Amino acid sequence: MAETKVVFHYPTRLLETPVVSRLVRDFNLEFNILRADVTPGAEGIVVLGLAGETKDIERALAWVKKQGVAVQPLEKDVVRIDDRCTECGACITLCPTAALWREVDTQAVRFDPDKCIACEICVPACPPRAMRVAF
Ligand code: SF4
Ligand code: SF4
Repeated sequence: MAETKVVFHYPTRLLETPVVSRLVRDFNLEFNILRADVTPGAEGIVVLGLAGETKDIERALAWVKKQGVAVQPLEKDVVRIDDRCTECGACITLCPTAALWREVDTQAVRFDPDKCIACEICVPACPPRAMRVAF
């Protein structure tokens, strides 16, 4: 049995469509929702762990893409080198999952790896290169 982790980026028009349940019914896959960020009127992001036969995973992902969902493999992590962060805040509004935010009390910029989907948007945007891709 093969396993993989993927990020589904749902356009607004597909938010009501039961895409994930079809993975079980039509492609014999097991899934585990690792993270989900679905806001009405905005793009939805769901991070999934998938398990099944390799050919079924490939067929399923091809079907998902055909429905209009952008599929991003989650093969790497984005990390922050805390010593380099200058708390400038440039990354906060760019992060699609609110994995980076400013703490009200201390004004420090925090990073939550559990919310990060490794989209890498913050990596080039960080002036002192505190955000890094870790393979
Ligand atoms: S890579 Fe950066 S911008 Fe993307 S989800 Fe993670 S922290 Fe947010
Ligand atoms: S852009 Fe970089 S330096 Fe600025 S707050 Fe974010 S991680 Fe820290």
